[in-house]
Amino acid sequence: MSIITFDHPLSPLPAKKRIALVAHDAKKREMCDWVKKHRDVFAQHDLHATGTTGALLEKETGLPVKRCLSGPLGGDQQIGAMIVEEKIDLLFFFWDPLTSQPHDPDVKALLRIAALYEIPIACNRASAEFIISSELMAKSYARRVEKA
Ligand code: PGA
Repeated sequence: MSIITFDHPLSPLPAKKRIALVAHDAKKREMCDWVKKHRDVFAQHDLHATGTTGALLEKETGLPVKRCLSGPLGGDQQIGAMIVEEKIDLLFFFWDPLTSQPHDPDVKALLRIAALYEIPIACNRASAEFIISSELMAKSYARRVEKA
């Protein structure tokens, strides 16, 4: 039996998704190039990002990106709160596995909340490719709901 309970069911992920994009410094170039490669897909959804990642993506893709604060200033926590409020449907989080981050607890918290709320998460380019090429990108998806 799960100790996690929701007193209301999670809503399905909509066909038009609210996508969160976060990249640590060493991964920003990789994320930017990858988003540019799939610009046509991203143009069909709403984009959100942490501060610096969002500024770079907006500049390089020309797509509108709603920006939270920079990650180390609380941006990861803002994205996490949006997931809890069911305002984010998908997370591309290219975190850097080779560098320690001052906001490491926030990174861990964001990954935990994304797993708990059953949204798709990609932490590297290969996973991101699998998700972006899924037919579910253009469809509604009913999330599993934990029940006590
Ligand atoms: P940034 O934050 O996009 O503002 O660099 C990302 C992060 O470090 O979590």
